[in-house]
Amino acid sequence: MEVKPKRLADYGLRSERVLWKGKGPGVFEREVAEDLEQRLGLTTLEKAVAWAQTKSMWPDQFGLSCCAMEMIAIVSSRYDIARFGMEAFRASPRQADLLIVSGRVAHKMAAPLRQIYDQMLEPKWVIAMGACASSGGMFNNYAVLQGVDKIVAVDIHVPGCPPRPEALLEGILRLHEKVLAGVPPAYEIRGVAS
Ligand code: SF4
Repeated sequence: MEVKPKRLADYGLRSERVLWKGKGPGVFEREVAEDLEQRLGLTTLEKAVAWAQTKSMWPDQFGLSCCAMEMIAIVSSRYDIARFGMEAFRASPRQADLLIVSGRVAHKMAAPLRQIYDQMLEPKWVIAMGACASSGGMFNNYAVLQGVDKIVAVDIHVPGCPPRPEALLEGILRLHEKVLAGVPPAYEIRGVAS
């Protein structure tokens, strides 16, 4: 039987492109290194810590309005956020490192929200869930904060009105990717006092 030679892609490489010399580590080299790392179990302390952070990111038990219903749904068996080690919504901000702002923020609620954020230990992350949390949404009036990024540093914006639970899960996975890639939390990037 004829044995076909394996292509690089058959070994798990996502690209066969080899960059020119002097252009830094190429896609090929990075992929080979990642592959080796995975197969041999090599890692660095920073990567191990980032991995642990993404596998135990506990959201605060904080819901604001209609979007909160969709957020609550992600702990149900249908969406099962426990797959990511995140089913433990914490009742105390001191035990949480993820704040999901799910819904419109009335000006009256801005101070308590900031207080909850301040009580969370670092590193901490914020997801603005839905149009209202991101920009005030349809509530362009004096009573609603026009974007929660005015009072806290937001790491991920999830669009929609309301975003479905799948969209929130997508936002959470994108946040995990940022953490794994070594991107610092938004408050560090913005230089906002935390
Ligand atoms: S984005 Fe839509 S669903 Fe979410 S809080 Fe605003 S109005 Fe409600």
